[in-house]
Amino acid sequence: MTTTHNQEQGTTAEIEFEVLAIDEDVVAQLMVVDDAGNAPRVKVDDEGGNPLRCCLRLSRPGEQVALVSYAPLRRWAKAAGAEPGAYDEVGPVFIHTEPCGGPAGNRFPEVFLRSPRVFRAYRADGSILRGRLATAEVLKDQAAAGQVLSRILADPRVAVVQARALEFGCFTFEVRRAA
Ligand SMILES: [Zn+2]
Repeated sequence: MTTTHNQEQGTTAEIEFEVLAIDEDVVAQLMVVDDAGNAPRVKVDDEGGNPLRCCLRLSRPGEQVALVSYAPLRRWAKAAGAEPGAYDEVGPVFIHTEPCGGPAGNRFPEVFLRSPRVFRAYRADGSILRGRLATAEVLKDQAAAGQVLSRILADPRVAVVQARALEFGCFTFEVRRAA
């Protein structure tokens, strides 16, 4: 038995990973024209509570945000030299309209713990390998969430992982093996 075979029993050594928000350069590009070719829709978020993909926290009431279309796989593939082809998808995300400094670190974002999430694993060529649903109970804390991602990344065929919201399917953040 290799460590890969043991992963379902939870005996695999932790794979180091990093959670990535939308990079500030990309945010700036999206504020000009988004990945669907449209201008961003800027608004004051009166109620707050929307997940911001630039800093991986929830918006606060009164913050100025923009709703834009974002193509996470296309953006990743361009840098990785992959061809996602039909797997390319564009979807709505909230971002800050001004540089916000990004997330505090590369850990699993605190605000997305204890809520269900779908993790989609993609191969190096940009095709999808599998999806994994993690319930709120499974994502109960940092250690548990880290174990879920570690297990997905233990498969050497996985090049990049996308975390998505369960109900709307919106892209939430990207996960890669730590550099
Ligand atoms: Zn932000």
